Amino acid sequence: MLPKGTITIKDGRLVTPFVVMPGTIVVENGIITYVGSGADVPSAEGPVLDAEGAYVTPGLIDIHVHGGGGGDVMDGTGKALEVMGQAFSRYGTTGFVPATVTASHRETLRAVEAVKAAAGKGTGGAQVLGIHLEGPYIDMGKRGAHHPDHVRPPSLPELEEIWELAGPLLRLVTLAPELEGAEAAIRRLRSWDVTVAIGHSNATYEEAMAAHVWGASHICHMFNGMRGLHHREPGVAGAALTCDGFSVELICDGVHVHPAAMDLVMRAKGPDKVVLITDTLRAMGLPQGRYQLGGLEVEVTKEAARLLTGELAGSTLSMARAVKNAVDLLGVSVAEAVRMASCNPARAIGISSRKGSLTVGKDGDIAVFDAELNPLATIVGGQVVYQRT
Ligand SMILES: [Zn+2]
Repeated sequence: MLPKGTITIKDGRLVTPFVVMPGTIVVENGIITYVGSGADVPSAEGPVLDAEGAYVTPGLIDIHVHGGGGGDVMDGTGKALEVMGQAFSRYGTTGFVPATVTASHRETLRAVEAVKAAAGKGTGGAQVLGIHLEGPYIDMGKRGAHHPDHVRPPSLPELEEIWELAGPLLRLVTLAPELEGAEAAIRRLRSWDVTVAIGHSNATYEEAMAAHVWGASHICHMFNGMRGLHHREPGVAGAALTCDGFSVELICDGVHVHPAAMDLVMRAKGPDKVVLITDTLRAMGLPQGRYQLGGLEVEVTKEAARLLTGELAGSTLSMARAVKNAVDLLGVSVAEAVRMASCNPARAIGISSRKGSLTVGKDGDIAVFDAELNPLATIVGGQVVYQRT
């Protein structure tokens, strides 16, 4: 069952995330019913959490994530999504959109089925907010870690089958718009109100802008999986930076994108069009040590997860860390960093009427952080799913 709790969080430093103010929040039956100074707070039943001046923010939302806590979306099991949701909730994340990777249609359907089940059942941690198909309709040369055997051009029959299974849970599809059949796919996805992202693409600037006209409005992990920004052929990056119709994902770990390149993104897009993501694999959130993950031996340290050869085994970033990095590396305010991790992702996938800000009437998804932005507590639908001891 998805949580529908009642709780009062008092004496917080509320990051709404448009203003920062001292105050109190009340959640009743899973919905925020009061946000204010606390002077006129209605008496609500349920527990009271004293934030003691800590930051109280909207729950963080990760719209691009493959795994965590030892589980991976492509395991295609409820258990994997459960451990993911529970791992993310320890880092202020209240909602996530599990992302598939390039795979056979059968494997993709299996993963979608599991995500759908987890969305209905809950994870005991962060809530499953939808499904993100990353691939298989991507460019072979820009596929990154996606498996070459299954990279293929867009297929309407496949998309229809996925839509039939997932319905509106299908929230985001990342594809390469220069591929044969991409226009029809984008138009069909938009007719279902699914957000389309350009990613793992070798599109030119003109091709990217054509895709925008067809309905693409989002950019998958900016600068990763696309050609570099060239002054005579600015490509997807140039379209992303100059067209206000695109929101852009940023992996803010200081490794995937150089801080100067992130600064360029911030200057061009501003704090309302940048979406912080983690793109993590299953090693995220595991205690340090050596693991067998996906058939590979991986050493998880404080900094990263690496194969024994030293190669990075995906990101182990958390959303809380991404927010902290945005403040430390990009010089944005805490309110702006939180906006990029809550309100903007909610807007990018079309759920901002329910999620992404501390506003009366929205879902009671809330995170509490200390002054250094370390997570203290995570509340999903008014129920505490994590509290630092
Ligand atoms: Zn990814």
